[in-house]
Amino acid sequence: MIEIGISGYDNHVQYKEKQEEVRKMPKGKRKLVKCIVCGEIFDSELDTCPVCGVGREYFIPYDEEDIRFSKDTEETFVILGNGAAGISAAEAIRERNDTCSILMISREAEYSYNRPMLTKSLSSLISAQEILMHQPEWYEENHITNLLNSEVTKLDTSNKTIELKDGRRIAYDKCIYALGAECFVPPIKGSDKPEVIAIRNLEDVKKARALGSSARKAVVIGGGVLGLEAAWELSKLCEVTVLEVADKLMVRQLDDKAGEVLGELIKKAGVKFRVNASITEITGEEKVTGVALRDGEVYEADLVIISCGIRGNVELARESGITVQKAIAVNEKMETNAEGIYACGDCAEYRGANYAVWSQAVQMGKTAGANAAGDTVEYEPETPALSFEGMKTALFAGGDNGKNPELEYQTLEYSNLEDGNYEKYYFHNNKLVGAILIGDTRKMVKVTEGLNVGCSLNYVRNNVIHP
Ligand SMILES: Cc1cc2nc3c(=O)[nH]c(=O)nc-3n(C[C@H](O)[C@H](O)[C@H](O)COP(=O)(O)OP(=O)(O)OC[C@H]3O[C@@H](n4cnc5c(N)ncnc54)[C@H](O)[C@@H]3O)c2cc1C
Repeated sequence: MIEIGISGYDNHVQYKEKQEEVRKMPKGKRKLVKCIVCGEIFDSELDTCPVCGVGREYFIPYDEEDIRFSKDTEETFVILGNGAAGISAAEAIRERNDTCSILMISREAEYSYNRPMLTKSLSSLISAQEILMHQPEWYEENHITNLLNSEVTKLDTSNKTIELKDGRRIAYDKCIYALGAECFVPPIKGSDKPEVIAIRNLEDVKKARALGSSARKAVVIGGGVLGLEAAWELSKLCEVTVLEVADKLMVRQLDDKAGEVLGELIKKAGVKFRVNASITEITGEEKVTGVALRDGEVYEADLVIISCGIRGNVELARESGITVQKAIAVNEKMETNAEGIYACGDCAEYRGANYAVWSQAVQMGKTAGANAAGDTVEYEPETPALSFEGMKTALFAGGDNGKNPELEYQTLEYSNLEDGNYEKYYFHNNKLVGAILIGDTRKMVKVTEGLNVGCSLNYVRNNVIHP
C-alpha cells in the first residue's frame, strides 16, 4: 500500500523548511526526481513527494531543465489563477526574465497550494500552511505579486486589460489564462442545500470536515477516484455510502474485472457503495436528510459530497473572443488565438484533450510561461495515469485499458485475490498501451516506463509480472 505522509520529518513546518532549503540550492547542484504518482518534479533530498505525499519508491531520476534562454524586459505578465498551472507559468517566466513584473490573481484567499491533497487529507487538513507550494517569502524573493481574494470579471483583448470585480482595471503585456475548473454539479433537485458540497478548494474541505464530524451518515455521489478518496477520508468521521450512476466504480479508468476487484476491496474496508444508482433527489426540507433513487430506495445522509467531474472556467475567454472548444484551444506553445494570451491547465485543451490532472497542469503552465517570456518550448503530453490510495488498498491505472472499441487488444492478467492483488496489462500491436495495478502498486515505476516505451507482451510477462 502507498504510504502518504511526511516521513522523516517531525511535522509539516520542518518538512516545508527542508523543501525551501533544497529549493535555494544552486542549479546544477540539485538532483531532481519525478514522482510517478502525480508527476511532480522536485529535489531528490526530499523523502516524500510535496504534492501527493508518497515515498521514495515512487520516484524516478529526472534531468534538470537546461534553460539557456534569458531576456530581461520591463513587461507586465498578468497570470489569471494561482493553481498548478499559474504558479508553474510564474516560475518559468522568472527563470528567464529577472526584471519583468509578474502579477498573479486568484479569487481564493491562499497562496498557491497542492490541490490534490484536499481529498487525500480531508479528515486531517487544518490549514493552507500545510500544503502551500511556496512560502510567502519565496514570492518576495522572486518579486512576484499576488492579488488574493480578487475575482477577474473581464478580459479585454483589444485594450490588453483585465477587470476585477471591485472595478480595478489592470493592463498586461502578456496574459496567462490559468483559471482552472469548477466541480460539475448535476442538476439534481436539492443539490443547492448547504450540506451538499463539491470539493474544489480549501473552503470546501473545511466545510465538509466540519459537517462530517457531526454527521451520522454521508453519501458521496460519484464513484470516480476523487469520490472514493473523499469517501475513504469521510469514513474516518462517519458512515459513508458511495452512489455511482454507471455500472462500475472508476468507470473511465478500469475494466469490468478490475472494477469488481476494487468493489470487493471497498466492501472489505467497510465502505458501502451502490452502482447503477440513478439519483432523483437530495431530500430534506431545511437540512439534507438523504438521497433518493429512481427505484425508490433512499440513502439517509446528513452530508452529501458531489464528485461528478469538472467544467473548465472558460467563460471569460469565450466572452473575449478566444476560441473555446471543450476547453480553451491552445497550440503546442500554449498560445490561444488572441495575441499575447496563453492558456494552460484544467481550462485548456490541446489537440482535443483536456487532461485535468496535476502533472499536465504543471507542464502546460511551464510551457505557457516559457513561451510568454520569449523562449520556444513545446508541450509534450504524457500517457495519462492516476493512482488512488485508500480503502485499505492502492490502485494505479494508466493509458488505454481497452476503452477504444475500434482497437483490438491483447491482455495479460495476474491475480491473487486472497492477498488483494490484481494486475492487468493491455497491448495493441504487441505494445503495452494500458495497465491496472490493484493492491501492491510498487511496480508502478516499471509499468510507467513500460507504458512510455510501449514494451512488448513477452517483456511484461517475463520482467514485470514475474521479475
Ligand atoms: C480534490 C482534488 C483532488 C485532486 N487530486 C488529484 C490527484 O491525485 N492527481 C492529479 O493528477 N490531479 C488531481 N486533481 C486535479 C488537479 O488538482 C488539477 O488538475 C490541477 O490542480 C489544475 O490546476 P490549474 O492551475 O489548471 O487549476 P486550479 O488549481 O483550479 O487553479 C485555478 C485558480 O484560479 C482561480 N480562479 C478561477 N476563476 C477565477 C476568477 N474569475 N478570478 C480569479 N481567480 C479565479 C481558482 O480559484 C483557482 O485558485 C485533484 C483535484 C481536486 C479538486
